[in-house]
Amino acid sequence: MKIQTSGGDQIEVDRSSNSWAMVQQICQQVGQENAFYVCNLSSILEKHKGWQAVMPRVEPHYAVKCNNDLAVLEILATLGACFDCASRAEIRKVLSLGVSPDRIIFANPAKISSHIRYAADVGVATMTFDDVCELHKIQNLYPSARLVIRIRVDATDAQCPLGMKFGCEPNDAPQLLDVARSLNLNVVGVSFHVGSGCREPAVFRRAISAARDVFDYASTVGFKFSLLDIGGGYPGVRGSSLTDIAAVVNNALEDFFRDMDVRVIAEPGRYYVTSAFTLACNIHSVRKITDVDDQGRRFETHRMYYINDGVYGSFNCVLYDHQVVCPVPLKEYPESRRISSSVWGPTCDGLDRVIEDISLPDMNIGDWMVFEDMGAYTLPVASTFNGFPVPEVCYIIKQHEWAQLKNFISLSRAELEVIEEPNAADEELFCLKIPSNLNAPLASVKKPE
Ligand code: PLP
Repeated sequence: MKIQTSGGDQIEVDRSSNSWAMVQQICQQVGQENAFYVCNLSSILEKHKGWQAVMPRVEPHYAVKCNNDLAVLEILATLGACFDCASRAEIRKVLSLGVSPDRIIFANPAKISSHIRYAADVGVATMTFDDVCELHKIQNLYPSARLVIRIRVDATDAQCPLGMKFGCEPNDAPQLLDVARSLNLNVVGVSFHVGSGCREPAVFRRAISAARDVFDYASTVGFKFSLLDIGGGYPGVRGSSLTDIAAVVNNALEDFFRDMDVRVIAEPGRYYVTSAFTLACNIHSVRKITDVDDQGRRFETHRMYYINDGVYGSFNCVLYDHQVVCPVPLKEYPESRRISSSVWGPTCDGLDRVIEDISLPDMNIGDWMVFEDMGAYTLPVASTFNGFPVPEVCYIIKQHEWAQLKNFISLSRAELEVIEEPNAADEELFCLKIPSNLNAPLASVKKPE
């Protein structure tokens, strides 16, 4: 089934997916009204396999900032992924999962001093820099750190450009490396981030080529570089593919780094989590805007739907991450009666508008709107402003995948457990955790026939 977004694009909705099945089961519970997420951990497993299939030379370091959900981190840690952390708290969280410090890159070029001291204490040695000031700070606080110079190479089109804040111009890299040398610091490689949600795969070739130039200069001043970090920027929504970027990356690595013994890593964020999270929101209020025609009859011109999550919660992504979100009514409605509508969050703030104008069916209080692809840059940024809770997460996974993982994973921290071992076919999904604020406890969760 295809749905039209507010931006005019058509998106495919698969109401028979495991996440939809779970959403439906929860929404059917009597008295259910809290907004909630369904996180399909199987999707994260698939993404990891997908990455390894198309970019086997590149080791993913999941960018924790994108979604720091404990279960997601535990699954990725179990799968052997490494991590990109930007702060002391992120490092602490990843270490608490039993991940060794050498599987973490502290990839924030402008770090708070106490966070550098913490990294030194716990042995997270690999960290990025892009400025002389940062070099002095590191020399003072953690002189034996393994430093990675971040250069600026921007995609011509990206959902969230980053170059205005981070990365030295490639032409300035030699001067920075000279300073690092004079301070007797240990620079081991080059990183870049072409922009989050990159829409120009070719930029990876420009960036890898620029990185090679920095490698070459570094060797002339006595550094022996061994690390190339190709950053984030990979797409994560349903139906998107890594193959275009992977082809560019693989070719560029072959052309510019074939003869070199270099470890290549990346910092994917949204790639891993976007499609794994589906958000269900309940309509708690409806307002009809009307006008009067020539004969004095009232007619509806616009419908305002108020839902129980908004831009101060999960939909902060509309403001900060420039996401275009698309509500799909849980119930199926006839195509015929559609109304120009807007969707609003629950707070008393006029800014709290999720969607300005979209064509929606005639929905009522108590009906549900489902938003897919909500895993990136949503939950970690959400606040409880005005007293509205951040939606909790329900986790599902395919049975045979859980059977494989559970022997390796210590999911006690995320407090995941099988609600009930289903006696079902291999592919059947089942549920690992139901949020405490959802009404009726579910037993095993099965796909509807
Ligand atoms: N690495 C760094 C340093 C970042 O700042 C970000 C996002 O802002 C990422 C990785 C993740 O990027 P993405 O989610 O586009 O993969």
